[in-house]
Amino acid sequence: MKIRALSADLIRKLAPYGETIPLMARTLASVSRGEAELPLRWALSVPGGGGALVLMPGYLGSENSAGIKLVSLSPNAATQRRPSHLGLVVLYDADGLVPVALLCGSTVTALRTAAATACATSVLADPAARVLAILGSGEQADAHLDALRHARNFAQIRIWSRTRANAEALAVKHSNREPLIQVHDTIESAINGADVICTLTAAPTPILHGRLVAPGAHVNLVGSSGRTTAEADDELVERSRFFVDFRKSAMAQAGELLNAIERGHVSSDHLLAELGEVIDGRKSGRTARNDVTVFKSLGIAAEDIALAAHVYRKAEAAGLGQVFEL
Ligand code: NDP
Repeated sequence: MKIRALSADLIRKLAPYGETIPLMARTLASVSRGEAELPLRWALSVPGGGGALVLMPGYLGSENSAGIKLVSLSPNAATQRRPSHLGLVVLYDADGLVPVALLCGSTVTALRTAAATACATSVLADPAARVLAILGSGEQADAHLDALRHARNFAQIRIWSRTRANAEALAVKHSNREPLIQVHDTIESAINGADVICTLTAAPTPILHGRLVAPGAHVNLVGSSGRTTAEADDELVERSRFFVDFRKSAMAQAGELLNAIERGHVSSDHLLAELGEVIDGRKSGRTARNDVTVFKSLGIAAEDIALAAHVYRKAEAAGLGQVFEL
């Protein structure tokens, strides 16, 4: 049996945002029509504070593909200057369930997450949005700075990060693009009047407070992915029209929403729709200029599989990647 290995560089080359953002829109719509099988993400904590092994299997009918992402999450990744998610996506052709490709898991994760956020921003943000605030400066922030430029024509981009030097380094990395990025010392100043805000941190407790978010803003909550963590407070949830990538995982793992429900600020009806339902035109997104909209991204295996299948097909057609016999 032959399998094709696809490196980080090749994946980036074969998955430009101009292709992956519409791909994520089609994928999220397909998921919301029930055309995917997606069990909840499963994690094994490694004893001694060593991090966790995370497993995300799925089947995606629209791509006739199945797959499993296996990544490790290490608490020391940033200090060791390596990606936060290390591992692989194994892509299977759904006919006969034959494994066809192995892909760099951190690259697939960063590209599909940023593309999904860009898709949510295209669908939910005010069409006139001009000011983007990025909270965080890690691998996801880096990818989001590239992807979000496809969603709106931003006139101003701001970054805040807990460690200012990391925000500055990221700003320098993206300094050859317009508009130039401003680094802010506080979250309050970074989000003041911002039209689009992305939280992209490993903060365990809220860093984004609803009272500081401007009317009409769109917020992408991306960093927290477990029941016990939350990047935004109950007030933001309560003020917002609240959308998710996948209802089943949101009702189990979206800390921000579940905290607000548990403390009686909102009921479960507050989750208005999956993004895919809005994309399909079955549910409304933004209904007024002053709405605050929130997209809670937990990340789903369907996104990994769609991106992996897209890259695999292009690589196979062009004879790229390393093919080896198993
Ligand atoms: P990195 O390790 O590359 O970066 C982590 C970021 O979080 C840094 O900007 C760091 O700030 C910041 N940070 C860490 N702890 C805190 C804290 N207590 N308060 C405020 N900021 C903090 O990780 P990634 O960029 O890869 O991932 C960021 C988050 O996104 C993670 O929680 C990850 O699990 C999540 N994620 C979500 C996905 C989804 O699909 N929704 C997909 C992939 C990741 P600094 O360096 O300045 O100190």
